[in-house]
Amino acid sequence: MAEQGAATQVSLEAASPFDIRVDLGNDLPETDVRSALASGDMGFLHSFTTGSAVDGPGVRVVAWTTGCMWRCQYCHNPDTWTLRNGIPVAVNRAIDELRKYRQGLKVMAGGVTFSGGEPLMQDRFIVKLLTASKAMGIHTTIETNGYLGERLSDADLDNVDLVMLGIKAWGDERHRALTGREIEPTLAFARRLAERGRRMWVRFVLVPGLTDDADDIAGIAQFAAALGNVDRVDVLPFHQLGRYKWERLKLHYALNDVQPPSREALQRAVEIFRNEGLTAH
Ligand code: SF4
Repeated sequence: MAEQGAATQVSLEAASPFDIRVDLGNDLPETDVRSALASGDMGFLHSFTTGSAVDGPGVRVVAWTTGCMWRCQYCHNPDTWTLRNGIPVAVNRAIDELRKYRQGLKVMAGGVTFSGGEPLMQDRFIVKLLTASKAMGIHTTIETNGYLGERLSDADLDNVDLVMLGIKAWGDERHRALTGREIEPTLAFARRLAERGRRMWVRFVLVPGLTDDADDIAGIAQFAAALGNVDRVDVLPFHQLGRYKWERLKLHYALNDVQPPSREALQRAVEIFRNEGLTAH
């Protein structure tokens, strides 16, 4: 199985995950895709970006994977939903890419973050990259919605220094309305991480009129506080930077008229988490 076609000409490095990328893996036969997913010898990446200070501790290299089973109404990277929109990348090429950054990441107390899309859609590929990163002494983070957390064995989890878990909404009905899927697998993954003492950050996106109910936020805050392994909560303001991708992909975007939350609303949400004893920003 080889990397094919025009995709090999596309640079893995992107200035930003907001670069739109589509159809880069379309040349690959379906049998190769299936065998890549099963073996992890090849994966699909939207891009690598460098120098991120917001995707984990220190300065990060972020590997943006493609493929996601959710359809969050506010997703700012819908081009990452489809596996084949990504660049087919042999695992050894991805490891070589990470090796280039190894020394710099150590100096900057950073590491590599696997984000997406949903990285656990390509769990075997990600596990190989996590294992290789740890062997190189690189701090590892996965940013995930947790839905496929059971795909990671306990031994796999030992190669993850930090899980950044997105908790999108509180209550199954609201969660399904926002993401298209049920909430319980995400919560079960959080509980399992807590039982194993794995460190976690929670990420919550504040969307006016959609996720800003104070009782719902308190529900997430109480759940997170009870886990005992949550080092930090990031309350992220909804923004419209991804809207053009919905338009370019001809997807129906329901949040056209939604404004980013005010500074005061953001602070109120942060305080709800802090009131439960959590470190929140
Ligand atoms: S889980 Fe992330 S990548 Fe998937 S739809 Fe939601 S916001 Fe987008």
